[in-house]
Amino acid sequence: MPTSTNAPDLLIIGAGVIGLATAWRVARRGLAVTVLDPAPAGGASRVAAGMLTPVSELTYGEEPLLHLGIASRDRYPAFVAELEEVSGRRTGYRRDGILEIAFDSDDLAFLEDLRRFRQSLGVPAEALSGRECRRLEPMLAPSVRGGLLAPEDGSIDPRRLTAALLTAAERTGVRMDRRRAAGLVVERDIAVGVRLDDGTVLRAEKILLAAGAHSGDLDGLPDGAVPQVRPVKGQVIRLRTATPFLGRSTRGVVRGSSIYVVPRDDGEVVVGATQEEMGFDTTVTAGGVWQLLRDARELLPGITELEFAEVSAGLRPGSPDNAPALGPSPLPGLFLAVGHFRNGVLLTPVTADAMTEILVDGTVPEVAVPFAPDRFAEEARA
Ligand SMILES: Cc1cc2nc3c(=O)[nH]c(=O)nc-3n(C[C@H](O)[C@H](O)[C@H](O)COP(=O)(O)OP(=O)(O)OC[C@H]3O[C@@H](n4cnc5c(N)ncnc54)[C@H](O)[C@@H]3O)c2cc1C
Repeated sequence: MPTSTNAPDLLIIGAGVIGLATAWRVARRGLAVTVLDPAPAGGASRVAAGMLTPVSELTYGEEPLLHLGIASRDRYPAFVAELEEVSGRRTGYRRDGILEIAFDSDDLAFLEDLRRFRQSLGVPAEALSGRECRRLEPMLAPSVRGGLLAPEDGSIDPRRLTAALLTAAERTGVRMDRRRAAGLVVERDIAVGVRLDDGTVLRAEKILLAAGAHSGDLDGLPDGAVPQVRPVKGQVIRLRTATPFLGRSTRGVVRGSSIYVVPRDDGEVVVGATQEEMGFDTTVTAGGVWQLLRDARELLPGITELEFAEVSAGLRPGSPDNAPALGPSPLPGLFLAVGHFRNGVLLTPVTADAMTEILVDGTVPEVAVPFAPDRFAEEARA
């Protein structure tokens, strides 16, 4: 079995937003880092809409995740400024708020609950009448009854973000290896390397698994070290417009399903997203496209006039409690940054910083403590 020489300090499996951002930040601290991925930035990061909103209906009752999300959102301005400077690339980052829309009195009551919940966390949100919503966003449907503006939320273009991260990582000395990790090499109960498809073994001091929805696929993971990650399919449509259509990310609930529309500075308009438990299937379906356009048209009737550019499907890395697993795995030498589910783009800066501290300094920062990978094993034992 061929074995590589010049073992890096850290070998990262997966070049999505999480693996790339961590690689860049760790390399900045002076460690030798290699990232393995046959298709860098080809996973969920390529499909994601890129909304940066830590408070949503799904985060009710998930306070630790909320605090992680808020911490990450607040790190974004400095993170992006440094990234754009190092890479020389723009990321499409915007902090112009997110507007939640209500169509009826039930929706209004829900938004009022959400506003109070945000207030209790010290996260500002402004209740708006239907008229105020339309003044902000003239393309909204006349039937809109009211809304909630979260002024500190925003969005980023995940494709530009990963392109910038790739450049920044390589400029900081990270080695990109475009091959697939097939299995983990374990010697005397310590993870010491990764086996590739052709049997080559790459050895490293530490290994970080950050392969998104595929993080549980690796051969050779002993029981107890297999991350609890499942794929949750999402379909997204990309439209284009030459004239401004929408000022900020806008979302609402139509027929019980959540729909959002995210504008970008370059004229792209993203409509998302379905949520389907279909295993590793990434087929784009007629039903998915129909549902997204039907619901988006209820929110913004003029949307069907825009140019159709693309439809894609990706796999969110879901976890049992919708939150990521960050830190050392039960197997010495193996670390995890997996399970970011619907929030991986939002959680990129805080994950990269936390994993850097864990990998370089050996300490777990306060914000990451609730996300220890062994929490699922503890729950199973209880
Ligand atoms: C439809 C949709 C909309 C979304 N919208 C948002 C949003 O608005 N805001 C937000 O914050 N998040 C959003 N997300 C979630 C976000 O995309 C994910 O949480 C995030 O991309 C996870 O990042 P990751 O790096 O862990 O995984 P990924 O981005 O999936 O990257 C994993 C990488 O690992 C590689 N890989 C897999 N197996 C191997 C292997 N064996 N060897 C080497 N490499 C391997 C893949 O090629 C891939 O490049 C959305 C996701 C979807 C699907």
